[in-house]
Amino acid sequence: MAEAMKGLKRTHRCTEVSKADCGSTVTVMGWVQKRRNLGSLVFVDLRDRSGLLQVIFDEKDIGAEGFEKAGTLRSEYVIAVVGRIEPREGAVNENLKTGEIELRATQLRILSESETPPFPIEENSQTKEELRLKYRFLDLRRPDIQRNLMLRSKVTTEVRKFLTDEGFLEIETPILIKSTPEGARDYLVPSRVHPGSFYALPQSPQLFKQLLMCSGYDRYFQIAKCFRDEDLRADRQPEFTQIDMELSFVDVDDVIDVNERLLARIFKEILGVDVQLPIQRMTWQEAMDRFGSDKPDLRFGMELHNVSEVVKDCGFSVFTNALAAGGSVRGINAQGQGHMPRKKIDALVEFAKGYGAKGLAYLAINEDGTYKSSFAKFMTEQELDALVAAMEGKPGDLLLFAADKNKVVWDVLGALRIEIAKNLGLLKKDDFKFLWVTEFPLLEWDEEEKRYVAMHHPFTMLMEEDLDKLDSDPGAVRAKAYDIVLNGTELGGGSVRIFQNDIQSKMFDMLGFTKEQAQEQFGFLMNAFKYGVPPHAGLAFGLDRLIMLMAGCDSIREVIAFPKVKDASDLMTEAPGPVDEKQLAELCLACTRSEETQE
Ligand code: ASP
Repeated sequence: MAEAMKGLKRTHRCTEVSKADCGSTVTVMGWVQKRRNLGSLVFVDLRDRSGLLQVIFDEKDIGAEGFEKAGTLRSEYVIAVVGRIEPREGAVNENLKTGEIELRATQLRILSESETPPFPIEENSQTKEELRLKYRFLDLRRPDIQRNLMLRSKVTTEVRKFLTDEGFLEIETPILIKSTPEGARDYLVPSRVHPGSFYALPQSPQLFKQLLMCSGYDRYFQIAKCFRDEDLRADRQPEFTQIDMELSFVDVDDVIDVNERLLARIFKEILGVDVQLPIQRMTWQEAMDRFGSDKPDLRFGMELHNVSEVVKDCGFSVFTNALAAGGSVRGINAQGQGHMPRKKIDALVEFAKGYGAKGLAYLAINEDGTYKSSFAKFMTEQELDALVAAMEGKPGDLLLFAADKNKVVWDVLGALRIEIAKNLGLLKKDDFKFLWVTEFPLLEWDEEEKRYVAMHHPFTMLMEEDLDKLDSDPGAVRAKAYDIVLNGTELGGGSVRIFQNDIQSKMFDMLGFTKEQAQEQFGFLMNAFKYGVPPHAGLAFGLDRLIMLMAGCDSIREVIAFPKVKDASDLMTEAPGPVDEKQLAELCLACTRSEETQE
């Protein structure tokens, strides 16, 4: 077989040539996008990751044999072409970067042939996602995915540059670690050498980065793979990537400062978008009260109004019962939506039920100022007027109310706000609204386990002024934790860490760890704290989500080269798969159940 590359050297990518190169000879290599025979000419659109270049095969230039070969080219053949760049003879193609030029081939070599692909390799494919993922190696040839992965590479390069300039060291932490059953479920890896013992894959490098601070590295970062064995959720990946960092001798403002400058740099350098600094900040409480969410989308208003005071004595028992049970009544004003047909309102009610609402009360203000409402008959005119006034309702508006425990009311109205905005087309993908959410609650009550769990993680410091509430009112203690939010998506989060052994022990205590359990699981950290620990804090960004928003995509699968699907399997390699009895025996493992035998 001839040596494929003998005598050939690629000089340019397809779109690295321009009008300025006219007259020069170049060698390009890539995939045949399309071939057209036009009488005595063969046209080929040649594709590589940079884009398309039109190649003309003319017998005059390439000779009879080359011309005949060109006539046999089919989609996805890989070819090398030597030729001369010339201005286009035909019409200029405004949509192509190389639309003004073409390559007159003088030499053609077919490097490999291709079967007909199971779907066309083109932008904005209509192909079903399962098929695309089964043939991901072909799907990855599509220009939109290629752009996403190139964007991703640019972002990680910029992150490395920025953080290195800021004095951060890139340090790797282990992938085979000890299991710590707090947070999500661990992926486990059996140890062959220690039968019956398991490693866990890291959910994040949290403990190691804190230990690095104890060891004096003072500014660490890592583009880290993290693993969480969570239940099936639409846009989650069992493995995902974080931009992870930790800093010593800092407080909340220092972490926020360096990270907002990092974001501003990335958005400016890569998207040309100016991020106004400082980024707006909002406490968790304010975010919940105004937007019903700890990751508010600030691209539009439609804020929540707490109308509990206004309706506390009204005749509508749905409202008064919720208040009597310690809950609240809140509403949103969908301005100008008073004409919404009943069917659409019903759909919103169903949507709200999906978020735990028992129902949704509504009131539309007709253009003549009269009301159309699901609960008007239970209220006096004055009560209705007061409610409308509290909601800043005007003729043509639609008011929607939820009455329940605070958490349910927030969840329902927070989600409804987004749903309505989506339906109204208010969510512009190129409008980037950043927000820091601060002062999260330290602890969250877990109904199932009947105990407090850490809202962020057990190493998060509380606000010093709330220290005395730790015993008397743990639920009200605020944490030195912060999230960075972009357009309603949590891009990342972090916290100032506990670095005092007594507070850390107390925290483990609050979370229901016995002294022995804490020692057994986190003894090494507590130990490290005994030998001189700097105050430290950190943060991690979800890289996949960041790229998804920058690329304007709807799913992180569009920005991950080889993603898994909802049930955590890989449709291309068919992982996970069964293993040999021999492999299991070496690990001293036996399967008691497989998918086939599962009910
Ligand atoms: N390790 C944390 C997380 O994965 C981030 C941090 O606190 O730095 O959410």
